[in-house]
Amino acid sequence: MQTAPVSRKEEIWLACKPKACCYVTAVIPTGRDVWRIARALQSPPWTFVRYFESPTPRRDAFLLDHSGRQFRLALAKQTSRRKKSAPPCIFLLKTNSGYHRCGLGDLRPRSCQAFPAELAREVVCVNPAGCTCREWSLADIDIAEERALLELRHQENEEYVSAVVAQWNARVAAAPADVHFDFAAYCDFVLRAYDQISAGETRGDR
Ligand code: SF4
Ligand code: SF4
Repeated sequence: MQTAPVSRKEEIWLACKPKACCYVTAVIPTGRDVWRIARALQSPPWTFVRYFESPTPRRDAFLLDHSGRQFRLALAKQTSRRKKSAPPCIFLLKTNSGYHRCGLGDLRPRSCQAFPAELAREVVCVNPAGCTCREWSLADIDIAEERALLELRHQENEEYVSAVVAQWNARVAAAPADVHFDFAAYCDFVLRAYDQISAGETRGDR
């Protein structure tokens, strides 16, 4: 069986023993990331994502009632006894030899796949905030590959905002003023929305 070639960035990621970025970074997944992981692991989203109140209005923030409070998704963290350092991502595994591994592999959210590359005014650059293990440079990444990945991430974020969050927020706004939806209801809505989008993609609707 032939395996896909591994990029230099992927090699660095796989070889990194401590994976410090998986401790300190708050991973904000899109709905499609959540759906992909939930369906592949056959686990409901609330077992691996949390929600937090957004201090400022965001297009990817969802409502749960008429209070105006907005929330965003984040990958859950493990409970850690280490008080002085950030807790690890819920999917971070530690092998007997002390190496850290992402339990999601290719299923990890696009933001994890792209890290530390990002687009600044359409220019691909590296922003390794959270990485304590090495000095990154543009020579470590394939610019064309990263651009394609970052554009895909952007598209998936736009899809989440317009096809899922906006629809959900309209539903909350149309509900009676005293109704409060819970997080599980939002998670169900996200899963069903992407099931439908995915069925449309399979049929070739777009
Ligand atoms: S999903 Fe994987 S790569 Fe992303 S923060 Fe968690 S352990 Fe790290
Ligand atoms: S970004 Fe830094 S800490 Fe994270 S896996 Fe790569 S080398 Fe390790």
